[in-house]
Amino acid sequence: MDRPRITIFDTTLRDGEQSPGCSMNVQEKLRLAQQLDRLGVDVIEAGFPIASDGDFEAVQRISALVRQPIIAGLARACKGDIDRAWQALQGAARPRIHVFLATSDIHLKYKLRISREQCLEQAREAVRHAKSLCADVEFSPEDATRTDVPFLCQVVEAVIAAGATTVNIPDTVGYTMPEEYGQLIRTLREKVAGIEQVTISTHCHNDLGLAVANSLAGVQEGARQVECTINGIGERAGNASLEEIAMAMRVRRDRYPYETGIASEHIYPSSQMLAEITRVPVQPNKAITGRNAFAHEAGIHQDGVLKNPLTYEIMTPQSVGVPDSRLVLGKHSGRHALALRCEQLGHPFERRELDEVYRKFVVLADRIKKVQDSHLLELIEEVKAAGKKIPPTGAGLPFTRAASAVGSTSESHPLPFPAPAPGSVAPGVSVTFGDHHSEQEDYLWGV
Ligand SMILES: [Zn+2]
Repeated sequence: MDRPRITIFDTTLRDGEQSPGCSMNVQEKLRLAQQLDRLGVDVIEAGFPIASDGDFEAVQRISALVRQPIIAGLARACKGDIDRAWQALQGAARPRIHVFLATSDIHLKYKLRISREQCLEQAREAVRHAKSLCADVEFSPEDATRTDVPFLCQVVEAVIAAGATTVNIPDTVGYTMPEEYGQLIRTLREKVAGIEQVTISTHCHNDLGLAVANSLAGVQEGARQVECTINGIGERAGNASLEEIAMAMRVRRDRYPYETGIASEHIYPSSQMLAEITRVPVQPNKAITGRNAFAHEAGIHQDGVLKNPLTYEIMTPQSVGVPDSRLVLGKHSGRHALALRCEQLGHPFERRELDEVYRKFVVLADRIKKVQDSHLLELIEEVKAAGKKIPPTGAGLPFTRAASAVGSTSESHPLPFPAPAPGSVAPGVSVTFGDHHSEQEDYLWGV
């Protein structure tokens, strides 16, 4: 059966990276971009080149390194931003310029201080300029869901005439409801001349916990691109979660008969890599990638799952790359099991590197009985950092501290599956919210 293909546009490195405590350096972004490529995303929004030299460099280096997905660079609707984005995208195999401009009255009046007519003209001019540089141009009317609908239709029609190839409809403030968002997409398809020539995209924030539901409602009304992030990170309450979108379409293909290019077995390694890089842990009950997502504690559930997993599982842990929980790593584990677990955690190793990891693993396994994924990730980081002669980044637990914590009574820092040992208390999600957002940055990171 021919199922419509949904383009997965990942903005973990742009919108996600802007969320408090989630900033990444260029090396970390490169590593994650390669993982996103393995995961099978269609578009990687690699950054906002005008925002900083670091962002520019990240977009430039990802463009040179990651060749399969489209690489997008964000720009406000002005020449300087667009030229800078294009400069960063020079080496990309498939570049895209993503231009945004707010269209809601509240943003026009208080933030941009321009009239609707000026907004329309600026959007048209910006897209025209971007199109003179790059064939693939996306336009986002920021705060679209709070924009007067006839005016939104007017703007969308103007940017399509100016050459936009994708029109994204952001629910910037996470305000919309599923039926309402679906209706908005339907209205655009009915009212806007030329809409059939472009891809309609969703970009939903999660302030009311509806980002995924709204994105799916958009798809049902004809949107064919979904913008999302790993673990749902993003401004404030975050973005639509990539893994939830992909698995909703896979598990409920009877209701959502669409295809994506996502290789679902790479979902868990991608989630773990992001958590490891940002040091922001995944909420334990997070759908798909949380530590408890496949854990069964109630006796009746355990009994059912042992008899037949389908009694309480709608998808298998293996289908999203969750390591086999029966595979416990200890001092008797071989190199093969170690290599497999490293790969499942997003670190495929060459033979020589694996030797070094194995050597350290054996020393550690001798001291602690059960090597948790969290220990393994720290060990991997140690080996990689030693290889590059640079210190590990971030402020995580030094390897020795984690090891000694395990040596004592509690099994702290439990990243791995399955759930913590019976009786132990699941740690709460303690995310430190950094305070690095100035008003200027808030303005920059608009969509
Ligand atoms: Zn956003």
